[in-house]
Amino acid sequence: MKIVVIGGGWSGCAAALAARKQDAQVVLIERTDMLLGTGLVGGIMRNNGRYTAAEEMIAMGGGELFELTDLNALHREIEFPGHRHSNLYSVARMEPMVRNFLVSKGASIQCQMRVTDVEMADGAIRAVFAKQGDESLRVEGDVFIDATGTAGGPANCNKYGNGCAMCILRCHSFGGRVSVTAKAGVKEMIGRKGDQVGAMSGSCKLLKESLDPQIVGALNQKGVAVVPLPASKILKGKLDLKCCQQYAIPDFEENIVLLDTGHAKLMTPFFPLELLRAIPGFENARYEDPYAGGLGNSIRYVGMAPRDNALKVEGVQNLFCAGEKAGLLVGHTEAICTGTLAGYNAVKSIRSEKRLVLPSSLTVGDAIQFVRSQMQEEGLLSLKYTFSGSVYFERMKAKGLYTTNRKAIEARVGAAGLTGVFAGG
Ligand SMILES: Cc1cc2nc3c(=O)[nH]c(=O)nc-3n(C[C@H](O)[C@H](O)[C@H](O)COP(=O)(O)OP(=O)(O)OC[C@H]3O[C@@H](n4cnc5c(N)ncnc54)[C@H](O)[C@@H]3O)c2cc1C
Repeated sequence: MKIVVIGGGWSGCAAALAARKQDAQVVLIERTDMLLGTGLVGGIMRNNGRYTAAEEMIAMGGGELFELTDLNALHREIEFPGHRHSNLYSVARMEPMVRNFLVSKGASIQCQMRVTDVEMADGAIRAVFAKQGDESLRVEGDVFIDATGTAGGPANCNKYGNGCAMCILRCHSFGGRVSVTAKAGVKEMIGRKGDQVGAMSGSCKLLKESLDPQIVGALNQKGVAVVPLPASKILKGKLDLKCCQQYAIPDFEENIVLLDTGHAKLMTPFFPLELLRAIPGFENARYEDPYAGGLGNSIRYVGMAPRDNALKVEGVQNLFCAGEKAGLLVGHTEAICTGTLAGYNAVKSIRSEKRLVLPSSLTVGDAIQFVRSQMQEEGLLSLKYTFSGSVYFERMKAKGLYTTNRKAIEARVGAAGLTGVFAGG
């Protein structure tokens, strides 16, 4: 029983873990030298409805990765505009923690291995072809999980963004993203809003050392610093570009909002360096990620898989998907939830057992179903969905799904008969 997970972002890590817990042999293939993908530069957890989703996963026995992010939190239960009870993990320490944990659970992790093609037979994937250094490899499996994300390569950032901003995905060094779903012959869906194809990532990192000590002091102590922008420095229109709609509110346009994830996380897609340096406290500002954060950011949501609510990709017998590949779902929490379900269902499918569809009485199940129906049935490809804000958080509240009451969440999971379902033997 061998499962091959392609893409080592949060969704791929969660899929690998869930499948290992069901005793499958798991190979996790990542094209760069580190796991976590865009999670290497994120850090915000448990804000708004993400708290509820994380607790549902913990009650279902799929909570280890949330426990690791909690353990690695630099700040807990902080508030920033529009967001409550957020934890911020240290982006510097997260990757080794997750990698060591997965290794301890018996997953085989293959870094600097880039999948370039698939071998198909009778509507199923038999093997993926990959390059690792100079070696060409063929990796066979029973079931495959596409967790390759939607960001990059540089051609997409050039065509739909402001050019390559040199982000953490480091396409020029490790090669661009390759979608397994597309290689298997499936027509992918593309996010678009008006003329904009895909969407631009919504935050950058500044080196703390380059900022005024007073700002750094506030960040270190409270986890957040909000600096009002002089009217002449407000850049109108940037909010429309953002893929993180939960931050597309005026507070993020009219202020510099910084969060402490080890670096100073600047909650805007980009900010011209010269303009930034004209603001008191930012005279020496320097970008840490993306390196050209003064010009632009990565383009995402180009290439999502049509899939059912068990996360099986339509049109390929043995392919599942997770994370951003599974639809317009933004965030680490969202990636861990879908990754866990995909890994679990991949094993179910090898055992010829009924695949699990999470019910809409749980926010995780409701979100997976809602995003699918919005995208596939209603053809709505302009919005993004997250437990932490915007359309889906409003839906959570309207349906009574949002709560921070752990006992109530455990009871909800219990009533669905799903307590410990992902826990494994
Ligand atoms: C700058 C930035 C800041 C963010 N901040 C936050 C935040 O604070 N909180 C939050 O919740 N979310 C945040 N997000 C969003 C969040 O990171 C993503 O939505 C989520 O982590 C996506 O996970 P994923 O596994 O689907 O994809 P990705 O993180 O994109 O991972 C995909 C992985 O697949 C690999 N890959 C691709 N093709 C291949 C191939 N052919 N072979 C092998 N490997 C391949 C890639 O190298 C990558 O590691 C942020 C995103 C960005 C870009």
